[in-house]
Amino acid sequence: MGNKLYVFGHTKPDTDSIASAIVFARLQKALGIDAVAYKLGEVNKETKYALKTFEVEEPQTLTSVDENCEVALVDHNEFSQSAQGIEKAKIKMVVDHHKIKFETKEPMYFIAEPLGCTGTVLYKLYKQNGVDIDSQMAGLMLSAIISDTLLFKSPTCTEFDKEVATKLASLAGVDVESYGKEMLKAGTDISEFTPFQVINMDSKEFDDEHIKFEISQVNAIDLNSVFSRQSELEDAINKEIKEKNLDFYMFAATDILNANSKIIAIGNKAD
Ligand code: MN
Ligand code: MN
Repeated sequence: MGNKLYVFGHTKPDTDSIASAIVFARLQKALGIDAVAYKLGEVNKETKYALKTFEVEEPQTLTSVDENCEVALVDHNEFSQSAQGIEKAKIKMVVDHHKIKFETKEPMYFIAEPLGCTGTVLYKLYKQNGVDIDSQMAGLMLSAIISDTLLFKSPTCTEFDKEVATKLASLAGVDVESYGKEMLKAGTDISEFTPFQVINMDSKEFDDEHIKFEISQVNAIDLNSVFSRQSELEDAINKEIKEKNLDFYMFAATDILNANSKIIAIGNKAD
């Protein structure tokens, strides 16, 4: 075993970021690397449901990294979504399925595919490396695919994601449809959250050359119940715009059963 490898997904973690960190760290361990999974923020209700179902522990929280840390990023490759100090850390590997926005000083493994989920990319890596997938890891990868593709309804979902999910479900011993619906349902209950918490459940800040903006999303079973809180959500969004000096903020609520979204867009460049 060499140096410790810190494995983590993006800040404000979704199920893919948590599951992929755990699953990738496990793969690296099987290959003889001292890898440890971390989270960069609080685990959401949907992810909690998945971890509980497959009896996997939540990773520890990582607050920052420095020049002595060897790291592997999963489910993201933008520094603005990564750990504090990431620009100084030694990035050894990236496994992702997003657009690439990346530059490093050192050579590295960069594995990215235009698939619906990092979990699907990881399934391929297990196969390529001849590492067995146990029911816990299968359950986590399946949960990540269901989450990122909204049970295969998102436009980012590919035939290959579906194929892999079917195989993982049989390894995990669950029915995709019924487990998937329960997991998504567990994640959509926002009734006890403040407006600030609602808009920060799954939000990402982007800093392109000329424009600074944030996109946030919640999943819902009933859009009317989300939009019954529209005015307090708008107050919270306006506060974020002011504090972070954003050009615009877009909040989207997605009806996960009908694959339909309704948005609120506010800011100077909202048009
Ligand atoms: Mn993600
Ligand atoms: Mn993802």
